[in-house]
Amino acid sequence: MPFVFDFDHLHRRPPMELKDLLGGKGANLAEMTSVLRLPVPHGFTISTDACRAYMHGGWPERLTGEVQRARARLERKMGKRLGDPVDPLLVSVRSGAKFSMPGMMDTVLNLGLNDASVEGLAKQTDDERFAYDSYRRFLSMYGRIVLGLPGEPFDGLLEAAKARTGARSDAEVPVGELRGLVEAYQHLVRTGTGKHFPQDPDAQLRGAIEAVFRSWNGPRAIAYREHEGISHDLGTAVNVQAMVFGNRDDQSGTGVGFTRDPATGAKGEYGDFLVNAQGEDVVAGIRNTEPLSALKQRFPKIHRQLLEIFARLERHYRDMCDTEFTIEQGKLWMLQTRVGKRTGRAALRMAVDMTKERAIRLTKPEAVSRITAEHLEQVLHPQFAGASYEVLTRALGASPGAAVGRVYFTADEAAQAAGRGEQVILVRTETSPEDVHGMLASEGILTARGGLVSHAAVVARGWGKPAVVGAEKLRIEGNSFRVGLTVVGQGEWISIDGTAGDVVLGQVPLTAASPPGEFETLLGWADTIRKGKLGVRANADTGPDAANARRLGAEGIGLCRTEHMFIAEDRLPIVRRMILATTKAEEESALEELRVAQRADFFEILAAMDGLPVTVRLLDPPLHEFLPDTEELAIKEATTGLQPEERKLFAAAKQWKEFNPMLGTRGVRLGVIKPGLYAMQVRALMEAALERIKAGGIPVVEIMIPLTISGAEMALARSWVEEAIAETLAGAGAAASQGRGRRLRVLIGTMIETPRAALRAADIAESAEFFSFGTNDLTQMTFGFSRDDVEGRMMSAYLEKELLAHNPFEVVDVEGVGELVRLATARGRASRTTLKVGVCGEHGGDPESIAFFASAGLDYVSCSPFRVPIARLAAAQSVMTTAPAQRPSRPGLNTAPGSTAKRSAAKRGAAKRGAAKRGAAKRGAVKRGATKRGGARRGAVKASAKRAPARRMSATRAPAKPSARQRTHKAGGARKAPTRRRASSGRR
Ligand code: PEP
Ligand code: MG
Repeated sequence: MPFVFDFDHLHRRPPMELKDLLGGKGANLAEMTSVLRLPVPHGFTISTDACRAYMHGGWPERLTGEVQRARARLERKMGKRLGDPVDPLLVSVRSGAKFSMPGMMDTVLNLGLNDASVEGLAKQTDDERFAYDSYRRFLSMYGRIVLGLPGEPFDGLLEAAKARTGARSDAEVPVGELRGLVEAYQHLVRTGTGKHFPQDPDAQLRGAIEAVFRSWNGPRAIAYREHEGISHDLGTAVNVQAMVFGNRDDQSGTGVGFTRDPATGAKGEYGDFLVNAQGEDVVAGIRNTEPLSALKQRFPKIHRQLLEIFARLERHYRDMCDTEFTIEQGKLWMLQTRVGKRTGRAALRMAVDMTKERAIRLTKPEAVSRITAEHLEQVLHPQFAGASYEVLTRALGASPGAAVGRVYFTADEAAQAAGRGEQVILVRTETSPEDVHGMLASEGILTARGGLVSHAAVVARGWGKPAVVGAEKLRIEGNSFRVGLTVVGQGEWISIDGTAGDVVLGQVPLTAASPPGEFETLLGWADTIRKGKLGVRANADTGPDAANARRLGAEGIGLCRTEHMFIAEDRLPIVRRMILATTKAEEESALEELRVAQRADFFEILAAMDGLPVTVRLLDPPLHEFLPDTEELAIKEATTGLQPEERKLFAAAKQWKEFNPMLGTRGVRLGVIKPGLYAMQVRALMEAALERIKAGGIPVVEIMIPLTISGAEMALARSWVEEAIAETLAGAGAAASQGRGRRLRVLIGTMIETPRAALRAADIAESAEFFSFGTNDLTQMTFGFSRDDVEGRMMSAYLEKELLAHNPFEVVDVEGVGELVRLATARGRASRTTLKVGVCGEHGGDPESIAFFASAGLDYVSCSPFRVPIARLAAAQSVMTTAPAQRPSRPGLNTAPGSTAKRSAAKRGAAKRGAAKRGAAKRGAVKRGATKRGGARRGAVKASAKRAPARRMSATRAPAKPSARQRTHKAGGARKAPTRRRASSGRR
């Protein structure tokens, strides 16, 4: 395979499909030249293969000959030669990677000029000034980019020339000064490199090509790829193209044009142009551009021709295109086209419009596949308007959207300030359940610690509030925080971007969140595509959250974390009484109070989700999470002293404190040691369901046991649940569970959150009617990575050193955790064919992870309410890209009455596409009565290369093996991991 391809080379496949080889720009130039036959200046593309070969072994020998021959062909086609002293050809040498990396790599213009050809250019154009201006531009670009000289001396000389001659702009510098600059620039090159500026066009060309290859690994390019998740392995193509000049005269010009408005999606051309100017002038914004419509008056024929080309491009690409064009002395040249970038609003409008346009005829599935999660996020959440702001620090974007507010450091102060009508950003080292009122009152949340599944992250996502977490460079010191030398005091304004993870000083203007009408249209199409194949539920813990989730399209609740009901201000004292109880009677009375309170909560949730399944998880977190912080109480004891009640709480907190609470007394283990707890929750839930039936509703209840590890444990837990259900129903009378022609049916299932549970899935499924993968814990336990600790501290080092392809708390680890998911699903279904399987870890809202869950044959994903639209879209897209195959038909999977969705056996093929908290276990004496209770009764009852790892190439390293995508971890640099197990708040 050759390294070099002319733009008019006849490829076997449409060149626009050859972006891997030709890069995006090269592929589209070839498409425009050889397929669309548009007026494109001739040129050739040096492939990405050549760049990769260069990176791994230096300049490939055969490339020299290929470039020389391509140059000769280009010269023949143009009837001009590079460096010709009479009528010289000038070329541009530009980068062009598979994925657009705007401005991140280098470009050399006006190549081919030397001391002789500059005179030829002056004569041919009859414009000496133009020729010398082009030459001084070339010398300065070449000096900086190819020869690596600093740019300031070049700029300094130009500024001095302007000052001497009183020129207000570069264009006013007289020709005599330009000649002097050419000499001075050549002198800079001689003194800076010890060599003369190369006069030989071959040497110039080779130098420029190598410089573009090298710029692939320039710091800007690397940072951009890491931010965008583009593989470092791809390399760039290089495009050598005959120059055309928009700055020849007033019959010349240059512009950028879009085939429709990229901001709104409105039909009709859109863009800017400048008369008598070069492309950089349009981009640099030095001169005021004119709208494309003004072209009609100045150049009516060209305007018409351009519109015809736009229409052809849209028909051909079946999408909105952006273009760069130049008019040289009355002739139009197309320099570039590509499918244009667009805002979320525009993407939605265009996708729907294009299904109605005869020239494009987009199908609905195609329209759905044109939308990305980012497009939906843009219309669902406010964003920073524009990009002109300085980032103070960048950390983990944990909950999307942007927010602006005054800084407050405690939940109480935040809530008070919000009460006074202030806009607030709550800044904490980390948050805990005690902070929720302050979080609720804030516009956004910023924490110095924690990861994508920390308390702050999970709660903020649930409410759709922007959050940036794990800002390791941020130090809170009393009533201010510091990042490096910058100190921000209480009440000062900051802005945060919870999508990118940026923290900015001051008030950044925001764009409003307002989904256009096409939002619902497209998501409706997406629902049709995924119907009966992959459901989407929400993780919601309150009636309002559930109602919001339903509004956003959730088909039920996949996870109701009941602990969130325990931390409400009116509940916490009751929970504490239960923990402090010294007699059975005291404990029972506290549990009774909790039951009444929880019943009301469940009623609201079931009402909001009437007719749809609601999965209620019984209490999961370690009990110390409901007790005050031991360190705070120890300080209080030593300073002001403790009240009698506080002394009791302190003793209990010490008793329940654990070294590793995430691995301690939590989940079903709580049920084992506090037997009345789970029974109380089940009774409250069943009573609420019966009340709903009485009110004419259709409650669909699923009770979920957290953190099980074995069949025997699940069978035991099931027996408590069944007993409590039976007791409640018996108390209410037989008729109470009949409503609207159906009998209340309750499913009992479990979360699969431990590797052991995954391995023993067959045993567990004997007593479980459904599994829900808790991939937050499953990831934590499979990797042995503390959810609370590793993301801020060591994740960036692991990603940089390529020890991980991506943050496994963000994108599910297909190879490890994914394997457990597949295995547990298969083993569980082998034991119970009707087993319903879903996921409720944060991965349930991540598009890449959703693709994996679709391929693993899961029945539904569940995610935070504001993520539901994104999950609906991603689920449809996953269903479209995974091959349907046979899966045992499993009747009775849909508990939602009236649902006719029949599971067509859907074992979906491999679609390899590719956010944690809590921590510490000294357990005091606990009653073990639970084991006696009930007894252990046996259960009666893959993508594009953009997703490949960002990996840097070096001339000495062997090519890296492509694997899954690397997401950039935006937190601080590598730090030493803690050497000692330590307690962490462990709170959500
Ligand atoms: C999980 O572990 O994935 C899960 C959903 O439970 P939690 O995050 O509440 O531990
Ligand atoms: Mg969990």
